[in-house]
Amino acid sequence: MNQVRVRFAPSPTGYFHVGGARTALFNWIYARQHDGVFVLRIEDTDKERSNEESVGYFLDGLRWLGLDWDEGPVFQAGRSEEHRAAAAALIESGHAYRCFLTPDELKAMKEEAAANKTEGGFRSPHRELTQEDSDRRAADGEPFVVRFRVPDGETVEFVDLVYGKNVKRTGDIEDFVMLRSDGSPLYNLSVVIDDADMEISHVIRGQDHLSNTPKQILLYRALGKPEPVFGHLPLILAPNKAKLSKRKHGEIVSLLYYRDRGFVPQAMNDFLALLGWSPGAEEERLSLQDLVKRFDISKVNKSNAIFNYRGGDERNWTDPRAIAINGDYIKSMPLDDLLPMVKQEMERASLWQDNFNGERDDWYRNVIDLLRERIRTLDEFPLRGRPYFSDDFEMEERAVKKNLKKEGLAGLLPQFADRLEKLKVFDAETVEAEARAFADEREVKPGLVINGSRTALTGTNVGPSMFHVFEVLGRERSVRRLRAAEAIVTG
Ligand code: GLU
Repeated sequence: MNQVRVRFAPSPTGYFHVGGARTALFNWIYARQHDGVFVLRIEDTDKERSNEESVGYFLDGLRWLGLDWDEGPVFQAGRSEEHRAAAAALIESGHAYRCFLTPDELKAMKEEAAANKTEGGFRSPHRELTQEDSDRRAADGEPFVVRFRVPDGETVEFVDLVYGKNVKRTGDIEDFVMLRSDGSPLYNLSVVIDDADMEISHVIRGQDHLSNTPKQILLYRALGKPEPVFGHLPLILAPNKAKLSKRKHGEIVSLLYYRDRGFVPQAMNDFLALLGWSPGAEEERLSLQDLVKRFDISKVNKSNAIFNYRGGDERNWTDPRAIAINGDYIKSMPLDDLLPMVKQEMERASLWQDNFNGERDDWYRNVIDLLRERIRTLDEFPLRGRPYFSDDFEMEERAVKKNLKKEGLAGLLPQFADRLEKLKVFDAETVEAEARAFADEREVKPGLVINGSRTALTGTNVGPSMFHVFEVLGRERSVRRLRAAEAIVTG
């Protein structure tokens, strides 16, 4: 079998859509499954809408996800001479023709066809011009577009890797435009010339291109080039079945937003893979290597995937499944992989200080290991980690009300602080024993002291195991915060 060569071919006209990211991922997986080549081609032929900033989004996004490409990036605009030459050759061989219809004439013809309910794909009357007439009118400077001469009475058949057998009668395919009147090539031409020149063996892309495929196959036939295998991927839609767009659905549609909001790249890959594909009954977390082993393009769903975006609630800022998957990764990934990611977040929030205390590294490991249990996105680390990294943290009103403004608490926290000061060892276990003994002696529930301590030490009423919080905060800060809280308790 010939070598598998696939490509990801984004148009850099805006942001990197999550649907595009999934297309890139599936191409990458397919290449890696078959010892193939993954080509990156930037389809920047739309000069008005393409921009360099947007090219950067694609490169950054692919790098972030770890989807390394083997060839490229090839910029399609740099190949327009090849595309024009191919169009000229197709005119020469009779597979294409110049159409001199003015825009007004074309509009009138299409309106007439619609009024008469004429069936079949559009054919220009200039399809029948003799070669001499066509050459003469072109030489006289009359503007023209180049149309493909769709053969009559044939069928185009292909077996899509996802959608299966597709059949289209050529009579229903219009004589599509390949070159505009300014000589600029259009998508169907450029994509086929490039895919053929780059020897792409499998074209894996969004389902929105399924309807272009018969036209492209006709082009391959006309060029005498081998047709690639096609595989189209279902669309990713909003819960109300609308197409996901930034205009309607906001930033959650953009891949890089996930990077900036604290997603772990592998969680994103995992989530993207599950949009439209499932590894089987048991859902589990899959690394890129697992995906290469397990993914099966023929098992991709034909029906469109739903992105369960709820919106409106910051806690559900994207599909809850995506957040849950990310939380799973944060909880279970090797700590050594997580720490640099968290450090970046801490630096961004100006909470990182080298040599925070003498045991910086161990201390840092312990805090992050403790915090990660309850954290779902990396950007929560500076938020929840603030009381550990800084003395300047907020006392949440709700927590104060619940845990500090408590009958019977007056005086207890400073007394508990006195006892902690005298402990020989200061770790979770001894602090716990001391807290329980202290509560017993004072004939109060341990919860009164423990919950009060939580708010005194971290400003919140939820968090990791409280005795471990004492341990990582250390004796000095714990004691100081317990004493400082008395002003709130009695205030
Ligand atoms: N540039 C096209 C797009 O972004 C991709 C075309 C293709 O994959 O054939 O939709």
